[in-house]
Amino acid sequence: YAKSQGQNRYSVYDPEMDKQLSRRMIIEKGLRSALTKGQLAVYYQPKWDTEMNQPVGFEALLRWRHPKLGAIGPDEFISIAEETGHIAPITEWVLEQACRDCSAWNAMTAGGLGVSVNLSSRLFGSLGLQDMVSRALERTGLPPGMLELEVTEAAVMNHFDHAKEQLARLQRSGVRISMDNFGSGFSFLGSIDKLSLQTLKLDRLYMREYESPPMKAIVNAIISLADQLKIQLVAEGVETERQLQFLRQAGCSVMQGYYFKKPMPRDELDEWLAGLSA
Ligand code: C2E
Ligand code: MG
Ligand code: MG
Repeated sequence: YAKSQGQNRYSVYDPEMDKQLSRRMIIEKGLRSALTKGQLAVYYQPKWDTEMNQPVGFEALLRWRHPKLGAIGPDEFISIAEETGHIAPITEWVLEQACRDCSAWNAMTAGGLGVSVNLSSRLFGSLGLQDMVSRALERTGLPPGMLELEVTEAAVMNHFDHAKEQLARLQRSGVRISMDNFGSGFSFLGSIDKLSLQTLKLDRLYMREYESPPMKAIVNAIISLADQLKIQLVAEGVETERQLQFLRQAGCSVMQGYYFKKPMPRDELDEWLAGLSA
């Protein structure tokens, strides 16, 4: 009996699981000092207006270069930062960085190029959110209307009443609110109206399947919905000319995706902007 149990225990051991566990532990530990060690960076991806043929703003996307693990994507470390309580200082840092960079690139162009920052759902619960946003705006002097906060559909739907209240308060201070990954879950469509959003970001999964007739009809309906509610629609994940043409025909002109530009660090953004006006 003892022997079979021993064997059992042995067969349960999975080196792959061990590896994942230690990777997670390294990430957890590293997050504590990632900020102070200067390992985090904000990258920017343009939102492109295909009608005006110019960028309308940039989304701030966090990057982490770990000394041992190399580049770690936000999809992996943001959720860990949320669970371990590191998300507030990290977000505060991203906000300030993004507001400062936005002020700078507007000083070197004709202006009007806003910045979007992704907000973790965990922060909806924190009382400090409003202060955090105000502080970033004050310290950098960025006009509130130039800052847009992206909240995911899932985050809003999971705590609807509370989220609605927090978003309304943020909006009163003049910042814009965008619903990220729109259409990726099952949400009550009427909520779009209740939240008084400025922007809807169509989840990139629609760009993978838009060629099937039913999906085409759905994308068309979403575009017309946004249009009638006077909400700006941004299509995410545009990678090909065909996707661009389809969206244009359907009446959506603002897009984001690798087709236009991959997220880039601040110095590259400056060069990119300079190249556009040259
Ligand atoms: P998101 O906000 O939906 O950002 C869009 C993601 O799609 C980014 O991934 C971007 O690099 C990627 N992407 C852009 N264009 C294309 C394309 O044409 N094709 C494909 N396949 N992907 C494209 P990234 O940078 O890895 O970020 C992943 C997610 O992590 C973001 O999704 C966002 O939810 C979260 N995130 C990023 N930065 C922050 C942050 O500062 N704070 C918080 N709370 N979350 C963040
Ligand atoms: Mg986003
Ligand atoms: Mg998105």
